[in-house]
Amino acid sequence: MVPKPSPAAVPTTRSKPLISGKAERFTESVIRDMTRQAHLYGAINLAQGFPDFPAPAEIKRAAQEAITADLNQYAITWGARSLRQAIATKMKKWQGLEVDPEAEITVCCGSTEAMIASLMAITNAGDEIVVFEPFYENYGPDAILSGAQPRFVTLHPPADPTGEWQFDKRELRAAFTPRTKAIILNTPNNPTGKVFTRAELEFIRELCVEFDALAITDEIYEHILYDGARHTSIVTLDSMRERTITINSLSKTYSVTGWRVGWAVAPPVLTNAIRKVHDFLTVGAPAPLQEAGATALDLPESYYEGLAAAYRARRDRLLPALRQAGFKTFAPRGAYYIMTDIGGFGFPDDVSFAQHLVKDIGVASVPGSSFYSHPKLGAHQVRFAFCKTDATLDEAARRLLKLKKA
Ligand code: GLN
Repeated sequence: MVPKPSPAAVPTTRSKPLISGKAERFTESVIRDMTRQAHLYGAINLAQGFPDFPAPAEIKRAAQEAITADLNQYAITWGARSLRQAIATKMKKWQGLEVDPEAEITVCCGSTEAMIASLMAITNAGDEIVVFEPFYENYGPDAILSGAQPRFVTLHPPADPTGEWQFDKRELRAAFTPRTKAIILNTPNNPTGKVFTRAELEFIRELCVEFDALAITDEIYEHILYDGARHTSIVTLDSMRERTITINSLSKTYSVTGWRVGWAVAPPVLTNAIRKVHDFLTVGAPAPLQEAGATALDLPESYYEGLAAAYRARRDRLLPALRQAGFKTFAPRGAYYIMTDIGGFGFPDDVSFAQHLVKDIGVASVPGSSFYSHPKLGAHQVRFAFCKTDATLDEAARRLLKLKKA
């Protein structure tokens, strides 16, 4: 779906490679490509995880007011003071953690930049990073770009649809070596919907301490939880305060994925390094939207209850529709994706199935292989996002029923 290069841009024979070895090692984002394909074929986009409903009125108003008040120049490179203060206040309230907004927070262009800036700040060539798979697509290229060596540990799908994705403790332990610099966590998890339990995080904590490794934890879905699942931040566990980088953002919690405001919270020594990388990568996140972020983080508790309840209703709308259409589904405990098993459809792999779905059925999904280190590992899975209006989900459900008749 990438536009063809103009003839002038086509490389001729050269004495040295035009493209870096790093850039050669990964493809364009499959998630973002599926969005372009959804546009191309007029398909319902259940691929990329962004809401198709409005963001809260008060935070849109706050953004408009910030622009009108001419907060239109660079914020302080590591983040507007008002937003950093609001992040510290929110972490105190929800995680019970004292964070110094002057020394421990870096506001970035989304959690995407917070993650790559953190990895670039801590890794040297050859350092190993432990990553659970399936993983959010970005972590693979992030590891390559930062020069780290990923060590993948499988999250095994549950045998029955109501079960939990699990890692094997021995497999996780075996992935830690003296070269392990960090483990990347993402809880609630994209794409599986797993919410790591306190006991699981305790086990990970023990390994981090034993191997002197850091935890980089992406918690952007912390408020999107179902069925009584509880979110635990690993930074709150014993001895983890000094070895955790906690990443979060406005995108999912406040339905503003296009604003590109996220942050990394880490002890001062780590934050100093993250801030330097961030400064030279992007200088700063959009200034007026950071001001609006301070308003967002100040929303009352009822906002978060409403958010989780609305997402539960959306999940419970799409899950039966997928089952009815012939998918084997894994019910998420958190986040807003459903991983499915497509074994019942008889397609050779996830990519050909997702192509059929977007072109002939009119629904865009994400092929499972984009969440794994090797294509064959996700060849029987596709992911659907349900951060969509009832009308969108119902139309997708209607179209998916065509799969049965095909
Ligand atoms: N997190 C979203 C997803 O997994 C979107 C990510 C992105 O495109 N930046 O679909």
